[in-house]
Amino acid sequence: MPSERRIPFLDMTAPYRELRQDLDEAVGRVLSGGWYLLGEELAAFEREFASYVGTEHCVGVANGLDALTLALRAANIGPGDEVIVPSNTYIATWLAVSNVGATIVPVEPRVDTYTIDSEGVKSALTEKTRAVIPVHLYGLAADAPGIVAACAGRDVFVLEDAAQAHGATHRGLRAGNLGHAAAWSFYPAKNLGAFGDAGAVTTNDSAVADKIRALRNYGSRTKYVNDTRGVNSRLDEVQAAALRVKLRSLDAWNARRAAAAALYGEWLRNADLVLPVVPDNATSVWHVYPVRVTRRDQVRATLAAKGIDTLIHYPIPPHLQDAYADLNMPAGTFPISERIHANILSLPIGPHISDEDIAYVAEAVLAAVA
Ligand SMILES: *Cc1c(COP(=O)(O)O)cnc(C)c1O
Repeated sequence: MPSERRIPFLDMTAPYRELRQDLDEAVGRVLSGGWYLLGEELAAFEREFASYVGTEHCVGVANGLDALTLALRAANIGPGDEVIVPSNTYIATWLAVSNVGATIVPVEPRVDTYTIDSEGVKSALTEKTRAVIPVHLYGLAADAPGIVAACAGRDVFVLEDAAQAHGATHRGLRAGNLGHAAAWSFYPAKNLGAFGDAGAVTTNDSAVADKIRALRNYGSRTKYVNDTRGVNSRLDEVQAAALRVKLRSLDAWNARRAAAAALYGEWLRNADLVLPVVPDNATSVWHVYPVRVTRRDQVRATLAAKGIDTLIHYPIPPHLQDAYADLNMPAGTFPISERIHANILSLPIGPHISDEDIAYVAEAVLAAVA
C-alpha cells in the first residue's frame, strides 16, 4: 500500500515561497534593467559574500567546479604537480585537479567526521605537492587550519572545497577563510543556492583574486585585450540578485537545519546506527544529515515505502568510477572511504522541514534498524 505521507529529501520550492516578494523584486529589477552580466548585482553580491565569509575578496564564477578549477589555475598548478584530495568526496573535487592536468593524490578521511585526516595529509606530502583541497563534507568544517600548519614552510596552496559548507566554522572562523582560497558552489540544493548554476572563489590573496577575475572573462582585464587564455565562467546578474536576497536568510536557515539535526540526534541516540560527529572545534551547517546503517538498501526501501526520500552521498567513490579507471586504484585501495560509501545514508533535512516530519522519519528509521 503506498504511503499517504511524502517527505521530500529537500523542499526546493519552500525558500522561494518564503522570500517570494523580495526575490521577485530583485529578479525583476535585473530583467528590466537591461544589464545581465558582470554588473552591479554581481559586484554587490561579491562584496556581501566576502563580508559574510570574512575574506577580502570574492569572485563570482559560473559554478563550483569552475571555482575549484580556476583557483588551481590562478595558483599556477598544472602538469607534474601533486594535489592532495579526499578519497571520499563529490567527484568535482577530483575533476578540478584533472582539469588543470595535475596529479591526484587521494588521502583517506577520519572515520568519525568523514573529513580528510590532516595526519594523513602530512604523510602524503612530497616535494611535488603543490596544493591540498580539504572538503567541508556534508557541511562540517574540515581541519583546514591543521593542513595549513602541516604545510608550513612549503609552497603548498590550501584550497577549501566549501561547496557544502556556507556558514560553517572552525575555531570561530568561517569556512572559506581557513586556507589560501576557497571554492563555493551555489547549485540550487546547496545551503545557499541559486535558481540555476553559480559559484565563487573567496580569498585574502589579491593576486589570486585578480587572476580569477581575468580568467573567468576570457583572460581579459580590459575589453578585447586578452592577457591569458581564459574561459567564459561568469555568475550572471539574475543569479547574483537572487543570491543577495537568500544570503540574508542563510544564518536563520542554517540555524533551522541545526535544530533539525539536534532533533534527529535526540530521537536516534540509542538506535543501532552511527550518528554524525561534530568535533568541539568545528560546526556543521548540516548540508546533509548522514547516518551509517547496516543493510542500508533494505533500510532505504523501508523508508521509501513510508514515503520518505533519502539519498546516498555518495554511492561510488571517485577512485572506483569508470572516469578514473586509468588511475588503477582497484577496490581495497581506500578502505576507509569504501567502508563509508558502503553504508552511509542521508536523511531528509533542510531549513523548512517540520519537527513532525523529523519525528516521522526518525520513528521510521528506528523501526527499520530495530
Ligand atoms: C556541489 C559540489 C561541487 C560542485 O559544484 P557545482 O556548482 O555543481 O559545479 C564541488 N564540490 C563539492 C563537495 C560539492 O558538493
